[in-house]
Amino acid sequence: MITQHFMLRHAGLFQEKAFIGGDWMAARSGKTFTVYDPYDRSPLASVPDLAEVDMEQAVSAAKAAFGPWSALTGFDRGSILERWYRLVLEHADDLAKLLTAEQGKPLAEALAEVRYGASFIAWFAGEAPRVYGDLIPSPDAGKRFSVLRQPVGVVAAITPWNFPNAMITRKIAPALAAGCTVVVKPAEDTPLSALALAALGQEAGIPDGVLNIVTTANPKAAGDFICAHPDIRKISFTGSTRTGKLLMAKGAATLKRLSLELGGNAPFLVFEDANLEEAVVGAMASKYRNAGQTCVCTNRFLIQDSVIDTFRDMLVQASASLKIGHGFVEGVQIGPLINQAAGEKVRNLLQDALSKGATIAHSRPFSESDTVIPPIVISGVTEEMTLAGEEIFGPISALSSFSTEAEAIALANGTSYGLASYLYTNNMSRAVRVSEALEYGMVGINTGVISYASAPFGGIKESGFGREGSRYGMDEYLALKYICTDVRG
Ligand code: ADP
Repeated sequence: MITQHFMLRHAGLFQEKAFIGGDWMAARSGKTFTVYDPYDRSPLASVPDLAEVDMEQAVSAAKAAFGPWSALTGFDRGSILERWYRLVLEHADDLAKLLTAEQGKPLAEALAEVRYGASFIAWFAGEAPRVYGDLIPSPDAGKRFSVLRQPVGVVAAITPWNFPNAMITRKIAPALAAGCTVVVKPAEDTPLSALALAALGQEAGIPDGVLNIVTTANPKAAGDFICAHPDIRKISFTGSTRTGKLLMAKGAATLKRLSLELGGNAPFLVFEDANLEEAVVGAMASKYRNAGQTCVCTNRFLIQDSVIDTFRDMLVQASASLKIGHGFVEGVQIGPLINQAAGEKVRNLLQDALSKGATIAHSRPFSESDTVIPPIVISGVTEEMTLAGEEIFGPISALSSFSTEAEAIALANGTSYGLASYLYTNNMSRAVRVSEALEYGMVGINTGVISYASAPFGGIKESGFGREGSRYGMDEYLALKYICTDVRG
């Protein structure tokens, strides 16, 4: 069934080679690994399993390309990015098919991700010529102080499987716009979207060596190599907090600059003065996108006790209407989880919660596929349950109640994470108070959808640091240089 979906309009987007220095390459060892359809584990492709010797070649290519690429004007780099953006949109259907095949999300969602991913290329194409410096007044009449913002150098981007397209463009577009060159290590579950993006980048005129994609089944070895390499000046990572901490510890050896976009534990607060219909719409969007596998997915529904029964019944009704299945099937809204381990983890979290007293408000029979989990609503969730403290990364809506605003804020902030948070209220003063009190990098007020290329995405606490998208996103790839000139000579 799946192979027919590889009948892409642009056959060159299906690549089973790594992309290094403008060439499509096998591993020197000849080793490969298989990419599977997460729904039924049918094999989709086999890609090179690169080792250090291959990755060294990618870093050399990126280093060699850095001089000429950074010497281009921002206008010229922006024009190339603009061409890439247009090609991505032109081939959005093919990119979406590849994405659904390897990641599992419904085709409509995959298409939305491709467009969202493209929006970062467009945004940073526009930002490329806007890397302003500063002139600072000097206390010494004979001197001039100026500040330049220069590209940091070769960047390594390590990306996750949940957004195989957008997490890459969100890093590469600002890096390239700033004048950096990049080595991307995509997640081993989802390398095909990365390779397809590189193919279009090459067509758009991104010079050889500026963008390299290294595929490997051994992320630990790749991470160690990247952290230790003196020519890699920066790591931009999206993934688990555990891996982020490892990269930070290992990157200390070469004092890597870091952007870390890590896990979340998003609270979704609903106050009794909220519009409950709108809250449920927001809840559905923030909970079930990508079958619950996003770092901004609601992890904990915190509902004021006077409205929790009504909210729960409305959420159950909406959750019960979701169609589950293979992402290529028309109308499907919940696809599979990424792999068996993910399915196992979500089942265990559910069992743990039920064993500690949570009750099921809605479930339906599990399918025979290990990776397909139906939407489930549970209530009576307490802080002792593992899923209250850990990212669920699956379609389980976990509800608990609060009675006062102060209690809601304390519960919401009672986690080591600090990425996204959501609150629903029609009381303007409360919206201001609560949004300012939430210890999170992002707050959605009366909305469950907060991610845009023009807005700064990122976290605090153990959700990491650095921002992606927006005018702040360029700063991650730029270093300040202060020049002090004595003009008396
Ligand atoms: P998740 O649990 O969401 O898969 P990970 O942090 O394991 O999150 O994966 C995110 C990315 O980090 C993937 O590209 C993965 O291959 C990579 N990765 C995993 N472990 C390491 C590691 N030890 N060093 C470097 N990268 C790693």
